[in-house]
Amino acid sequence: MSSSSRLSTDTSVREAYSADVSGLVMVPDAVARPASADEVIVTLKQASAERTPVTPAGSQTSTTGASITDRGILLSLRAMDRIIDIDVAARRAVVEPGVLLGDLNRALTAHGLLFAPDPTSLDDVTVGGAVACNASGARSLLYGATRPHVHALNVVLANGERIQVARSGLDKNTAGYAFAQEPVDWFVGSEGTLGVITRAELSLIPLPASVTGLAFPCPDEATALDLVIAIRSSALRPRCIEYFDPVALDIALTRTGALVYVEDATETPLDAWMELAESHGVASDIEVFEGEAALREARKFRHAVPATMNERGAAQRPRGGRKVSTDWAVPFRVLPQTIAAARRLVDAAGLEQPAIYGHAGNGHPHQNFIARDADELQRIEGVVEATLRHVLSIGGTVSAEHGIGKLKRKWLPLQASPAQLRVMRAVKNELDPHGLLAPGNIL
Ligand SMILES: Cc1cc2nc3c(=O)[nH]c(=O)nc-3n(C[C@H](O)[C@H](O)[C@H](O)COP(=O)(O)OP(=O)(O)OC[C@H]3O[C@@H](n4cnc5c(N)ncnc54)[C@H](O)[C@@H]3O)c2cc1C
Repeated sequence: MSSSSRLSTDTSVREAYSADVSGLVMVPDAVARPASADEVIVTLKQASAERTPVTPAGSQTSTTGASITDRGILLSLRAMDRIIDIDVAARRAVVEPGVLLGDLNRALTAHGLLFAPDPTSLDDVTVGGAVACNASGARSLLYGATRPHVHALNVVLANGERIQVARSGLDKNTAGYAFAQEPVDWFVGSEGTLGVITRAELSLIPLPASVTGLAFPCPDEATALDLVIAIRSSALRPRCIEYFDPVALDIALTRTGALVYVEDATETPLDAWMELAESHGVASDIEVFEGEAALREARKFRHAVPATMNERGAAQRPRGGRKVSTDWAVPFRVLPQTIAAARRLVDAAGLEQPAIYGHAGNGHPHQNFIARDADELQRIEGVVEATLRHVLSIGGTVSAEHGIGKLKRKWLPLQASPAQLRVMRAVKNELDPHGLLAPGNIL
């Protein structure tokens, strides 16, 4: 099949690629579904010559409108889904961008290895999408986001030029500006705007010998957040510390109160956990999850919250409503005050409190609001902006995980200085001078 025959302008195909989970719908002019890097190059060369915009896409689970477009070609990388090599001794895997993280980890399990980043959506997320968003998840508390786990990339630039970038592996390097020293980092988190990832060499970690999950039911939010800070401040080193507020806990487990969930891969005696919890007023009904099946169940209830809120948001679309999800983060010690301030802003606007849940150990909760119509959407966005201004005033970020995409572009200048924005634009102009890649994302 020639590359051009993989380009479709059929309405049903274009519509099939017109939505991610942001609630936005944007129908592209055409959809290209390359099966190889060579086909990506052909598509980009042709698009560049004709000045046609191209937006790369993986599984389109973006929450920010990053993987949809109504300008030019939607370039779906899903068909490039081969695991090319697993080097057990070097702990590296070479994969095409359309491989799903869940499939990759199932293949790696047989070799006692793990690709550490774990977005909640990992069974549906492509490697290309995870790299382009610098995705992270619960266990990023211990292992970090996707960035440190990307060793090398093959990238096709907007003009169709293929480049290969790999980490230097140097401990020390004073050659030139820091941001230019590791070009891999230009593309991790670039949301499709700087190049199309056609191959990734990923760094792997050994599968932990054992993982124990612990769920600490708490009477209220204050107790739960106090426990989160106590755990982070202790000598314990869990790989995740997740929080569920009463709304989220009702969705996840149809229970009242709040909950803190941790996973420990360090074989710390359970007594140490129990003692810490008890000294913070959490002593009864602590649940322990051991073994893969039990841990899977625990992760399922975690996944239920965003999945349910996405469904509730989608149901409001006919009236102009949708889910509004924040992914701000603050230094973990100021999380309780920040959540309290965020709740006050919601109350002051006369809105229903959102579900608040997620990566509390990183000072990174999600607030999930459901806007029932366009008017409520506007009021929620006003509260979100006020919350983000507060978050920034105490050293936080407007986006810790899901990226900027199209929906959060308006928040970026609140955080990035004019000089930072000029440098970002300069890099974009250098790599994509005609602004053809993923227009509308980030800048
Ligand atoms: C229920 C749910 C839970 C989620 N939980 C998390 C979470 O815990 N953590 C988290 O980080 N995210 C989470 N997300 C958001 C989303 O899953 C991640 O951002 C994910 O990394 C997107 O991967 P994707 O394959 O769907 O990429 P897409 O949505 O298709 O694309 C995302 C971005 O990557 C770019 N892109 C895709 N492929 C390439 C490529 N080959 N080359 C260059 N650019 C490319 C696109 O242009 C776009 O900018 C969640 C989403 C849902 C629906």
